[in-house]
Amino acid sequence: MAEPVEIVEANVRAPYYFISAARWTCRQCTDVTPVHALMLPEMHEMLIDDGWDRLGLPARMFYVDYLSISVQQRVFRTMPHYWLDQDEAIGFPYFMNHCERCGAKQTDRALHEEYPGAFCSAQWEPTGGVGPIVVHEPLTAHAAGFVIEQRTGIG
Ligand SMILES: [Zn+2]
Repeated sequence: MAEPVEIVEANVRAPYYFISAARWTCRQCTDVTPVHALMLPEMHEMLIDDGWDRLGLPARMFYVDYLSISVQQRVFRTMPHYWLDQDEAIGFPYFMNHCERCGAKQTDRALHEEYPGAFCSAQWEPTGGVGPIVVHEPLTAHAAGFVIEQRTGIG
């Protein structure tokens, strides 16, 4: 008899997490808008081959298409311009930043993958010079993009 299959919505989990903020020029209206990203502490775990593995390094995640309800509630309060939206170029929806002024999508490709994206390491400029906010609540999420953060003071 086959083992029951556990349906796992998350590929990452952590006992707490960070919200990082940066300022970014909207490509549509050219206003400067706040953008946010979720970061994981070094004790986060990632689901690899049905087992939870701990890499031991902090990570920034993007292309996030699933967040547990408590994280969604926190995000709704803290990051009001970050919501699940379709990215036509990618072909799937994910939690995406939007311009505070005009509502234009600020894709994760632009913010995280293309130089000089707001969250590319060399361009890191937290709003007001303040580091990431720590949220002392557990997180489970599913994301397609991860970057290991080497910065000290995180995790
Ligand atoms: Zn705009």
